[in-house]
Order: sequence, then C-alpha cells, then structure tokens
Amino acid sequence: MDRRTLLFSAGAAALVGGGAAAQASEPIATLRNVRIAGQAGEAVDLRLRDGRIAQIGRSLPASDGQDLDLGGKFVSPGLISAHCHIGSVQGVSVGAQFYTRENIARQLGVYAAYGVTTVASFGLNTDLFYAIQRDVRTGAIQGADLFGADRGFGVPNGGPPAQATSAQLFRPATEAEARANVRESIERGADFIKLWLDDFQGAHLVKMDPSIYRAIIDEAHRGGRKVIAHVYYLEDARAVLEAGADILGHGVRDRPVDQAFIDLMKRRKAACIPTLGLDEAFYLFAEQPELLQTPVLSGALDPALRAQLSNPQWRAGTLSNPALPQWKAAFATNKANAAALHRAGVTLAFGADSGPMPLRIPGFAEHRELALLVEAGLSPREAMTIATEGTASVMGLADRGRIQTGMLADLIVLPADPFADVRTIDRIEAVYRLGRRVVAKPRAS
Ligand SMILES: [Zn+2]
Repeated sequence: MDRRTLLFSAGAAALVGGGAAAQASEPIATLRNVRIAGQAGEAVDLRLRDGRIAQIGRSLPASDGQDLDLGGKFVSPGLISAHCHIGSVQGVSVGAQFYTRENIARQLGVYAAYGVTTVASFGLNTDLFYAIQRDVRTGAIQGADLFGADRGFGVPNGGPPAQATSAQLFRPATEAEARANVRESIERGADFIKLWLDDFQGAHLVKMDPSIYRAIIDEAHRGGRKVIAHVYYLEDARAVLEAGADILGHGVRDRPVDQAFIDLMKRRKAACIPTLGLDEAFYLFAEQPELLQTPVLSGALDPALRAQLSNPQWRAGTLSNPALPQWKAAFATNKANAAALHRAGVTLAFGADSGPMPLRIPGFAEHRELALLVEAGLSPREAMTIATEGTASVMGLADRGRIQTGMLADLIVLPADPFADVRTIDRIEAVYRLGRRVVAKPRAS
C-alpha cells in the first residue's frame, strides 16, 4: 500500500467514522528539498513557523524543530473552495439533524485530507457554525479553515429545497425583515451573505422578489459583507448583478452568456464560481461506475453511498431519468459559459458546491472540478491559480493561496506539478494545515 492509498484509506475511515476528525501531528519546522508547484526553478527549503511560511531559501540552516526532506517533491498551496455546504449530509441521508459538531469536524477533516484547506459554507449554517469556526482556528478541530454565510436567504414557499429548517435559513417576507436578518447574521459574525433567488428549474413556483434581494444586498454592503447569489438563469444572474451581488455562486446554465452580461460582470467587478460538476454529479457515477474503484474515491466513500452508487437499479434509474438531458445540457452550457467569461477577463472563483446532497462528495468534487475547468478549456495553470490565489483574492483572504513568505503554511505535497497537469491533485501524498501534517484518524471501533 503506497502513501497515497494510505492517505485516502485513512480519509475513508474518518468519513465513515463520524467520531474523530483529522488529527494533526507536531508542527514541522522545515520542509527541505521541495519544488514549488507552478514555478520553474530548483528545489528550495521552506521554513515554517507559527503556522506560516517564515522563510524560503536554498539549504537553510538547521533549526531546533523537526526537519523533513521531501526529496524534490512538489508543494502546492492548499485549494480554496468558495462554495460548499457543511453539516447537511451523512451517508445517503440529508437533513438538519446532520448539522452537528461531530459531523462537521469529520467533514472538515475530509476536505483537508483532499488538500482543500479552506472552505466557505454558503448558507444552511446554524448558530453552531461560529463555535466550530472558533475551534478550527484554535486547533481544537483539525481540518479545513472555515468561512461562512450564516443561514442564507431563501424565499417563503420557494427555494431552496425545504429540508432546511428555520434555524438554517431565513425566508424573509418583507424588506424590513430581510434587512433585520442580514444585520442579525453580521452580528453573529457572518463572513458573507448568501441568497437563493431562483425557482430551481420549476421546482418552486416563486422566485425571490427583486425588492427582497435588493434589500439584502444593500444591507449586506452597509455591513461590509459580500453577497453570493445562487443563480441558474441568465436573466436572474443579470438582475442580481444589477442589484449589486458580488459573487455568482454558480455558472449560468440556461443559455450562453452574451457580451452585455460579460460587460456587466466586469463593470461590477463580480466573480463567478461555475460549479461545473454540479449538474454532472447527478449522473456521473451512473455513467462511469469505474470511478468507484479509483483510489481518490474508493477509500473515502461512505458505505451507504457506495452501496447506492453500485446498485444497478440506481444506475438504470438515473440513466433513464427524464431530467438527464437537462442535466447534460446545463453541464455543457456551464462549461462553455465559464470558458467565455474567463477568456473575456471575468474573474472566476473555485468551488464545487459539495456537501448539500450525497452525490456531491466533499474533496472528490473539488478534485473533479479542477479537471472540469481544464475540460472547459482553461489551462491547468489557470485552473490551479483560480483554485488557490484567485479564490483567496475573491474571498478577501490575503494570507493564503500562494507559496510565499508570510503566507499560511497550508500546503499539499505531490509527486508532480498540478499546475502542469491537474490530475496530479488525485495523487496527494501529504497535506499540511498551518504547518502541521493532516492525518485522518480512524475511528476506534
Ligand atoms: Zn450551494
């Protein structure tokens, strides 16, 4: 069993276990003989101190801490996902009952084991979020750093789907209520404000009233918070950008973006998180069951989910689902639009919308998203840059996303350079979070 298998097997145990999340070892003082991903040049040493990269140089003098020679392996900044959901799923089940400290700590450990060292949970967070965020920052929970958008804003008798409780979602009926809910979120410590405005392709009868999202956006901006909007249709995306939304949480999936839309995004300095894998995930495992055997997925798959995905009836049902053509069309449109936006100079950010339903598997979904960005036409370097420093910038995080003195020591060790081939990201050998190696801890039983 090689180290890669070990890592993902351990991740599997953590995923299944629910008891213990990833566990970190002692901090490393120096990673020696590493090549910096995305950069030409000879191997260097990275001196790590207090969770940050303190010094980069050749043959740094011995320190009084633990030194590790990586023998010329590549080190990449950890991935930053600006769109996921924590505490919504366990196995094949979805519900508010899974928003627990134990489950979320486990999920943050899984993200970190996959090299996703920072995540933003965009909505459906209960008040427990803030205690967990504190625990991640103090090290009481070992896993991906956590940002979030408090509960998020939906529509009375509308989207998003109804499994979210009132402890997880606001559904304001009036502008005054919307503004009060935004202030309440910010007082609790929300990093962002999230809203869902569409009808989920006809699943709901009503969309969010423009007066409500205008009030949400205005109040968020008064409080110095960026607003991320769930969109599907071009016209909704246009309208919410006109109202001042900062980030589109998904790509436009109903039709091609036009020049006016591109100009609007640029004028607003807005970013788009395409979440290319979202629609593909509905049918991916039915079309490509061999994925279940790949090391990057096989070790980390929950047994109940594995059973479902391996079930011929589930596969047949998925492949004959009347929605299949729409999923495929949305996927194709999304890829074309992401490429068009990127070529036009619009900012893309990284995120796979993993975690709100079982088929969008934390960690795996982010790796898949990188490959899909390349499939859409971006170069591996562009995809990796978006998934690291680009998304750090969109999230306003100046302390991560690059291998540079002063940056957080959130690092992925790889046998090759993912900036040259993103599939390398499936071959993670080690992950460091704040200078400590992330080790997924199997459950006791
Ligand atoms: Zn989402």
